[in-house]
Amino acid sequence: MEKEISKLLKEKLIKQYGEDLTRKILSGYMEKKNASLRVNTLKTSVDEIKKNLIENEIEYKEVKWSKEALILQNVEEEKIRELDIYKDGKIYMQSLSSMIPAIVLEPKTGENILDMAAAPGGKTTQMAALSGNGAMITACEKNKIRFERMKYNLQKQGATRVNALMQDSRRLDDFFKFDKILLDAPCSGSGTDNIFKPNFTKELIEKSAKTEQELIEKAIKILKKDGIIVYSTCSILEEENEEVVEKILKKANAEILEINEIEDIQKLPTRIKGTMCIMPSKLYEGFFIAKIRKIK
Ligand code: SAM
Repeated sequence: MEKEISKLLKEKLIKQYGEDLTRKILSGYMEKKNASLRVNTLKTSVDEIKKNLIENEIEYKEVKWSKEALILQNVEEEKIRELDIYKDGKIYMQSLSSMIPAIVLEPKTGENILDMAAAPGGKTTQMAALSGNGAMITACEKNKIRFERMKYNLQKQGATRVNALMQDSRRLDDFFKFDKILLDAPCSGSGTDNIFKPNFTKELIEKSAKTEQELIEKAIKILKKDGIIVYSTCSILEEENEEVVEKILKKANAEILEINEIEDIQKLPTRIKGTMCIMPSKLYEGFFIAKIRKIK
């Protein structure tokens, strides 16, 4: 069956990006994405996983910006889930775009990090791995079923310094103070396949934008001076991205830190210099990322 893109989304994209770019975005949505994985360096090495994939006759391609990321060529995700390297938590199936926010946050040993919208734990476990289990991570998730899934993943992936909290992050005590916060916000999913689902509506976009704003306001409150927030969504709509960031920059004493150039990724224009918006394509979901420093 032909997939349909809603009139609402087309109109929004044309208004934001113009006709030509919108055509490219629309064809990006239609591309069937390759599965990709992240090697879990808490349990194995990139070489061991490459060897295992070759033994299982699974072709892969490397990615310029992360040696742990591998794009799978000739296999469906279901087949990967049958492999021991998957069952043992040596790999985590993760889209390429969604690996970037944790890399941008640069989690380090000794840092006190909050993951504000954490389940199923893809980025929490990635931050644990990037810091060699050296960062102290609080992973907050309000949905019980997703929270349970996250706890399972944390255990399976060997993320040992994570404190999992089942709570609405907007209600976290202001007494908390973190060095870094990852806010991978609940969003409309306008950069992903979610656009084909019946729940992709104007109301979803508006509700997401409201929650995103409330979450980022809480984030800035519970961040230490000089602390860093990485704000990300898998949406490419300005009401969930630039508008949310602009409002917080007006309200709080904070500034944008420029995200370093990441090779080989097609980007969409964003109206805030230093932020990044990834174009939906064969390899990437649409994603927005902003890095914010609290000045005072
Ligand atoms: N960061 C996750 C990962 O990489 O695996 C994906 C997070 S998903 C985009 C957003 C998550 O935020 C959902 O699991 C949703 O249930 C949760 N969420 C939504 N509102 C929340 C809130 N107010 N407080 C905490 N979690 C929330």
